Amino acid sequence: MTDTLVAFDDVLATYDPALGLEVHVELNTNSKMFCGCPTEFGAEPNTQVCPTCLGLPGAMPVVNGKAVESAIRIGLALNCDIAEWCRFARKNYFYPDMPKNFQTSQYDEPICFDGYMDVDVDGETFRVEIERAHMEEDTGKSLHVGGATGRIHGADHSLVDYNRAGIPLIEIVTKPIRGAGAKAPDVARAYVAQLRDLIVALGVSDARMDQGSIRADVNLSLSPKGSGTLGTRTETKNVNSLRSVERAVRYEMSRHAAVLDAGEKILQETRHWHEDTGVTTSGREKSDAEDYRYFPEPDLVPVAPSREWVEELRGTLPENPTARRARLQAEWGFSDLEMRDTVGAGALDVIEQTIAAGTTPQAARKWWLGELARRANEQGVLVDALPVTPADVARVQALVDEGSLNDKLARQVFDGLFAGEGTPDEIVAARGLAIVSDDGALSTAVDNAIAANPDVADKIRDGKVAAAGALIGAVMKEMRGQADAGRVRELILEKLS
Ligand SMILES: [Zn+2]
Repeated sequence: MTDTLVAFDDVLATYDPALGLEVHVELNTNSKMFCGCPTEFGAEPNTQVCPTCLGLPGAMPVVNGKAVESAIRIGLALNCDIAEWCRFARKNYFYPDMPKNFQTSQYDEPICFDGYMDVDVDGETFRVEIERAHMEEDTGKSLHVGGATGRIHGADHSLVDYNRAGIPLIEIVTKPIRGAGAKAPDVARAYVAQLRDLIVALGVSDARMDQGSIRADVNLSLSPKGSGTLGTRTETKNVNSLRSVERAVRYEMSRHAAVLDAGEKILQETRHWHEDTGVTTSGREKSDAEDYRYFPEPDLVPVAPSREWVEELRGTLPENPTARRARLQAEWGFSDLEMRDTVGAGALDVIEQTIAAGTTPQAARKWWLGELARRANEQGVLVDALPVTPADVARVQALVDEGSLNDKLARQVFDGLFAGEGTPDEIVAARGLAIVSDDGALSTAVDNAIAANPDVADKIRDGKVAAAGALIGAVMKEMRGQADAGRVRELILEKLS
């Protein structure tokens, strides 16, 4: 069944959107939230499990201190208050990927609460208020076998991998985000993008949306324009790319409007996002008063971080990534477009390091966003994954600056770096790439070029200096591009004056 949709612009003529984002971040601790099992991604199914994360009777959990530390650092970076005392709670429900039949989470006593993040959208700032960030554990993973789609419908049987069960998660929940209007899809995307950058800068997760280590659920509701009320919301689950966050919001706005225009009611439910077709489909109905029978976890002691520790952790916070970008852009003198390209190519860090190694910002940008971005693109990776370091790029540019290389020869040095032939200097020596500016070698080549092109030589003797280009070209060809073009020009003009 295809949903009826209202054109996006028409939605905004009648309704105000309200967003809510719930982002789960898988922490990169070495062990799980409540046991010592390893957390490495991609291991053989059910090889990273123990009685605790399998929920066997009698197993006792212990809180992972590193996970608490990461939770507090995330909370501080999101301008949250940090609870002086909080507890874990059991969230009871039955599902095969959750062997204990309850998830150990936090309920009315989250470790972090009342924060905010300022989100930039096209130069405009939206303050997204954070309701809470709490600790919990991940579930296992179901695999449905035998069907065409990998979904449970049509499958012969299902398998469960409990390696993921018990991996520490931080769930970050916003308050309703209102007033974004037509920019609601962009605000949602920018929030998740900035949050991901912040998590990466904190070093608490690799924050890979494609591997599920950061997952976004997108809540959306519409209310009559100007009413100031909140409509019934839907929750679109596990939207796993930034582009999909934006598209899912856009789709739900258009779908909600069509339902409301028809005089019908929005069903409060979870929905599934389909990356391939760009639509959401109905999941399960969800009431606000869903009864998870939460109660305090009796097997774990409360978490009571001392104020000294919290302040110590505040001292470890990195520069806010958005502020850092603004600072670097000003320092480097990049235009908005140059900066967007730099960030989009994943080149911010490598350019910063190349500049620190002595290269000008524009030269660093030229290599990383030109030649190296082209090669990265061919390999389907970001520039920071290339076998070329910022120090290599700085050295190549230094050789260009001192006249030992031109850009064309520099590209051959990069060929050598990609082939693992050593350092830039070793490659220049081994490949014989350095520019020849020695007059002895150049003079012979210039004489040869004059002899081979008597008509051109006559023109230059008659004062048509512009004709020198043809002779320079002939010399460069003979010298395989390794002649110092400026010195060649001088020699030609000397000889023909
Ligand atoms: Zn375990």
